[in-house]
Amino acid sequence: MEDVMEIMRHPDQVRNVGTLAHVDHGKTTTSDSLLMGAGLLSPKVAGKALALDYVEIEQLRQMTVKAANISLYFEYGGKPYLINFIDTPGHVDFTGHVTRSLRVMDGALVVVDSVEGVMTQTETVVRQAMEELVRPVLFINKIDRLIKELRLSPNEIMQRIVSIVKDFNGLIDMYAPPEFKDKWKISVDKGQVALGSALAKWGITIPMAAKAGIKFSNIIDAYEKDAVGELAQEFPLHVTLLTMLIEHTPPPNVAQRYRIPKIWKGDLNSDIGKALLEADPNGPTVIAVSKVNKDPHAGLIATGRVFSGTIHEGDELFVLGTKVQKRILQTYLYMGPNRVIVPAVSAGNIVALLGIDEARAGDTIVAPQIREIPPFEKLRYISEPVVTVA
Ligand code: GDP
Repeated sequence: MEDVMEIMRHPDQVRNVGTLAHVDHGKTTTSDSLLMGAGLLSPKVAGKALALDYVEIEQLRQMTVKAANISLYFEYGGKPYLINFIDTPGHVDFTGHVTRSLRVMDGALVVVDSVEGVMTQTETVVRQAMEELVRPVLFINKIDRLIKELRLSPNEIMQRIVSIVKDFNGLIDMYAPPEFKDKWKISVDKGQVALGSALAKWGITIPMAAKAGIKFSNIIDAYEKDAVGELAQEFPLHVTLLTMLIEHTPPPNVAQRYRIPKIWKGDLNSDIGKALLEADPNGPTVIAVSKVNKDPHAGLIATGRVFSGTIHEGDELFVLGTKVQKRILQTYLYMGPNRVIVPAVSAGNIVALLGIDEARAGDTIVAPQIREIPPFEKLRYISEPVVTVA
């Protein structure tokens, strides 16, 4: 717990990310595998989490489905990290919800089925991510299908991956703002693409494979010899994906420098503008709400991202738009899918708030002294291309 409070004060050790995918490409299975692999939070608990029985896993999954956010603790390069996975809806009918989630994310893990490749909803979510300046990395899932169903050779598997990456970069080229078009294209060689199976819980990037001396022929062998479990032990999916997210998606203080000018149209040279650009924990409180859940015991819980300032239990907050002022009864951080009461949450982090029942997803809530500032920009919904069947 104290560990987490400490990490929170070091934005470079925080990542706010979410998983995006075309339906059935494996978003849910990937999230499950991350939660099971990384455990609820601490590495000590993680060992135990692997020993969970079926009933406990089901309970955890139920909680996952209801959670607005899942925070995972992960050690990388000798440092602890807090990775906040913001809930993104699985189906594009709820495109609006995807956009609300993107507002509080800085990075996205896009999951693509290796057989189907980039599909219409992949395009929609990537386009929305670009609209909100959320930087993507790619997980090419269901590699087992290339081996078992399509029976591809190592060379053909490589070609397939190259072709998916090319299509994906085509989307970046089409939808990223000019200044990010080149910077945000993903590269297999830089470790911005992971390949694996969410179902079998293994994943690997090309630099990792090169370092370990693993080739596609070894992976095919593992499937033929029924030794996929060993692959999952050597290259656990959660380690690969969390490493990729830490290395290749921005921390909140870096992301806010280019995201704020796009999502907030106030004066960037004012004190508030500067606090937002820097994710200043000492600035005035500004929060964007991404989701409101009903807790059967506590009441309505608003989850959102603190873009500036530090919110404490007992603080007064003002909802821009509806102009309601309320006192915060409790502030929480997420640990795994659970909410844990904490005294304060600072800029760059995801907070859950009790006491502000009037807040809705998409709202901006602020310290009462700055009630005159403009709210965050309206979320822009992008709908699916309309397909007419003759
Ligand atoms: P979502 O709609 O994106 O959340 O997709 P799900 O996670 O529900 O997965 C859709 C289907 O793909 C389910 O039947 C999963 O069991 C299956 N699936 C997920 N990962 C893999 C994988 O690595 N290999 C194979 N063959 N199937 C997978």
